[in-house]
Amino acid sequence: MSHGKSQFAVWRCTDCKTIIQTTAYDKRRNDEITKEVKKYCKKCRKHTPAKRKDAKKSS
Ligand SMILES: [Zn+2]
Repeated sequence: MSHGKSQFAVWRCTDCKTIIQTTAYDKRRNDEITKEVKKYCKKCRKHTPAKRKDAKKSS
């Protein structure tokens, strides 16, 4: 219950804006996570630069 809010990083393809991946991460390690990274997009069928967007999930 006192676990707090989970931080999520949503990776979105910069080409088609599709969410490629959602990863949970520790807030303390936030600095180590890059803002943009190449990921494989199923829709584009290629590796595209994915932008990270932080999201908080309450409850
Ligand atoms: Zn794409």
